[in-house]
Amino acid sequence: MWWKKEKQEHKEIGFEERERKTPIAGYILLIAMAIISWWLGSMAIGDLEKVPAKPQAFSACSVPYTVYGWQDAWRYSGPYYDYQTQPVYEKPAPYPSPALEGTPPQELRQVQTTCAFSELEKKYGIPAVFEQTKSSRDQINALQTQTNRKQADLNKIQFDLENFRSAYQLSLSEKIAQVEGRLYNTAELQAKLAELESQNTMLVKDIANLQAQTTTLADQLKPSNAEIQALYQKALSDWRWAWRWHEFMVFLLQALFVFPFFFGVLKLYFRLSARNSPYTVIATFLLAVASVFVIQMVCVYFWSLFLAIIIEALWGIIKESQLLRSLLSYAGMLLSIAVLGGAVYVLQKKIFSPTRVALRRLRENKCPSCQFSLKLADAFCPHCGERILEQCKKCQKMKYAHLPVCPHCGDRKV
Ligand SMILES: [Zn+2]
Ligand SMILES: [Zn+2]
Repeated sequence: MWWKKEKQEHKEIGFEERERKTPIAGYILLIAMAIISWWLGSMAIGDLEKVPAKPQAFSACSVPYTVYGWQDAWRYSGPYYDYQTQPVYEKPAPYPSPALEGTPPQELRQVQTTCAFSELEKKYGIPAVFEQTKSSRDQINALQTQTNRKQADLNKIQFDLENFRSAYQLSLSEKIAQVEGRLYNTAELQAKLAELESQNTMLVKDIANLQAQTTTLADQLKPSNAEIQALYQKALSDWRWAWRWHEFMVFLLQALFVFPFFFGVLKLYFRLSARNSPYTVIATFLLAVASVFVIQMVCVYFWSLFLAIIIEALWGIIKESQLLRSLLSYAGMLLSIAVLGGAVYVLQKKIFSPTRVALRRLRENKCPSCQFSLKLADAFCPHCGERILEQCKKCQKMKYAHLPVCPHCGDRKV
């Protein structure tokens, strides 16, 4: 076949394919092709994630009871928690920031969250436990609202107290200095101060009382909280299995799209590169794109399967030990030297391999060993003594020792 001969010619070491180099414009087009196909392909693969139903997210009530790990990364796309919120308007804050004309006064706003429980939470009877403790929770919330109000009042009184105290000080100074037409009435201020102080004491006592009640109630809730936590642990484990299943389905779906493309491109690449086709470069770029898809897909699937769990455990160990951390950095340094230095070594070795060097020099009519001109040489280099010609084993004529084929009989050295 015609290409078999071509292949043989081009496989000779030292042959430089200068005339075959892809022009820069070609590379630019290939890079554009790679980027665009990667981008569009990623969109197609990403959309496949939405085909199987995603596991339902937990309700907002789960927040204090669930701990998510590294393996749960990326599982929060879409609504993280199921929220149903309603704003609650409270008493206006004391001393609001001066409202601009025409704007309504600022109000202390609380957002009360109602939980929309997911199927998994229902399965483990979590809503029932929440319901049992609802009155205590509502009481705690009411107590906290009360505490907040009292705290706001207390802030106001303490602010006033400060002002009146300084006014009282001034009135005393006025009295001592015997100023005419005094601005401050000492007795009046004293009475006002006494009133404010008693209010202050009362509020402080009230707040302490409210806080004590809250603590008592919270203590009462502790067992049921522990129960909820335990239930959520089970629900979370189920939720993770549901996600793992979902990710498996996505993986299978994506594999249907990605693997035929990848293996098709791989086959094309091997076919083109075997015949040393000038179109190999296109297949190389396509192969790079297909490989990225495969890596992306496999990494996402393996992440929650075991990668995240291993990495999280390793990170836990590394975080603990400073010595291990520095050892790890050191190993990383050595590894990067080995990888990058190794790559350069391989390249250099290929370019400067003795056979390649010898062939390059022979082509330029120079001694393969010392670069002395071969015009003056015969069987040996007159400068370094290197053997230039040797007898062909087949036709007994003289042939170049460093070249594989005899120019007289065509015999190939094995
Ligand atoms: Zn020489
Ligand atoms: Zn020969």
